[in-house]
Amino acid sequence: MHMVDVAVIGCGVTGAAVACALARRDVSVLVLEAENDVAMRTTKANSGILHAGYDPEPGTRMAKWNVRGAQLAKELCEALDVPRTETGSLVLAFTDGEVRHLEQLLERGRENGVPGLRILTAEETAAMEPHLSPVKAALYAPTAAVVSPWEYALAMAENAVENGAEVRLSCPVTGAEPVDGGWLLHTPQGDVAARFVVNAAGVHAGEVHEMVAPKSFETIPCRGEYYLLDKSEGTRVHSVIFQCPNELGKGVLVAPTAHGNLIVGPNAEDVDSTANTAAGLAFVAEMARKSVPDVDLRQNIRNFAGVRANTDQKDFVFGFAAPGFVDLAGMKSPGLTAAPAAAEDTVALLMSAGLGAPEKENCVRTRRRVRFRELSNEERAALVTKQPAYGRVVCRCETVTEGEILDACRSPIPPCSIDGVKRRAGSGMGRCQGGFCSPRVLEILSRECGIDPLDIT
Ligand SMILES: Cc1cc2nc3c(=O)[nH]c(=O)nc-3n(C[C@H](O)[C@H](O)[C@H](O)COP(=O)(O)OP(=O)(O)OC[C@H]3O[C@@H](n4cnc5c(N)ncnc54)[C@H](O)[C@@H]3O)c2cc1C
Repeated sequence: MHMVDVAVIGCGVTGAAVACALARRDVSVLVLEAENDVAMRTTKANSGILHAGYDPEPGTRMAKWNVRGAQLAKELCEALDVPRTETGSLVLAFTDGEVRHLEQLLERGRENGVPGLRILTAEETAAMEPHLSPVKAALYAPTAAVVSPWEYALAMAENAVENGAEVRLSCPVTGAEPVDGGWLLHTPQGDVAARFVVNAAGVHAGEVHEMVAPKSFETIPCRGEYYLLDKSEGTRVHSVIFQCPNELGKGVLVAPTAHGNLIVGPNAEDVDSTANTAAGLAFVAEMARKSVPDVDLRQNIRNFAGVRANTDQKDFVFGFAAPGFVDLAGMKSPGLTAAPAAAEDTVALLMSAGLGAPEKENCVRTRRRVRFRELSNEERAALVTKQPAYGRVVCRCETVTEGEILDACRSPIPPCSIDGVKRRAGSGMGRCQGGFCSPRVLEILSRECGIDPLDIT
């Protein structure tokens, strides 16, 4: 049986980053993803913050990967044309005790190598963000940014495919056994042989670990619920507004998104479910109003929830579960930020174990996407003359054209659902949440990708 060099299990942001880094080297890479698309689990449902890096304890893997990951994310997002905005962030202190906490965070941040951190006075904070409640002080981190998390993962996965990797969707790994020179992975689409395996299965990474080794960490899935507000609320604040972190995590934030909406959340509850609850949302609303009293939650266009891959370990879980089988588990927050740094260290670990992986001389490092609504009228006219499909607006809320939906359908990892088109082209992201454009998107997707409309979810 043909043996690939590296099989990656899971294609959230962690698996996508690993595949992207590996495919730029001279090795064969196969990504096995249980869902019908990239970024279908935790990677599509989080706060979308590229954290500056003052929160993790100095000396930990989390601190190192956070700060390095934020730097790499900046380069990757620029090169791969992923929406990312450097908003900066503020941690608010409402009490003297919290001011002392800010000083600890400042100290930690400096040890972690986070640039530009400083504590603002009450007046400076109010001048920067006039809609905040009065505070005693705030920690300002100018390098914090917001990113479109699913577009980030998709861009890295697409780049991996452009550089020769294969991404196999709807392909859960159900078992693994050691074979001569590597591993045999069982999937409903047939067995796969690989010299090395990377376990990037998110909340399920513990189960994958236990396919090859005794249990060594406990996963404690932890749900976080959100409001996503209409763009009319998108400038209520301009930076990411945190409260002081506590044992439950980074607390409820209010932040602009990379798409210009306002995101409010999350809470933290130890359940493995993405359902929203009245109690969870009420808590989020109450906490958010503590920071931003006039946030208008009636402008909500969608609620959602994501599940953190918390474990009984303080740090990310990284290392060989068995010979040639690497765990990248417990990728809780700031896992989105950490992903490319985790990928860098994974490549180094695999190479130390015998994966000869010289860098490719020629590989694709950039990507450009048409975003019709961001073009000037002159640019729009020129584009429509060349390709009339860009002149037909399909999603009226977000001004997404048929041309952009065709681009999504023809991308290296084509979508197979209406939400798959949404994640690539942005149709259905707006106020009506796809009420008007879904039938048109379905028609185009069916025609372009040759899928029976009755098979499109
Ligand atoms: C509420 C919340 C807020 C957060 N906010 C932030 C933030 O602002 N900034 C930040 O840096 N981080 C944040 N995080 C953390 C971040 O979202 C995660 O660390 C990151 O998305 C984890 O990505 P992943 O690829 O490891 O996991 P996932 O995205 O869950 O991907 C794992 C993939 O593995 C697949 N899989 C599972 N089992 C198998 C199998 N047997 N075979 C094949 N495939 C399999 C799954 O289908 C899934 O696609 C937040 C998380 C949550 C829940």
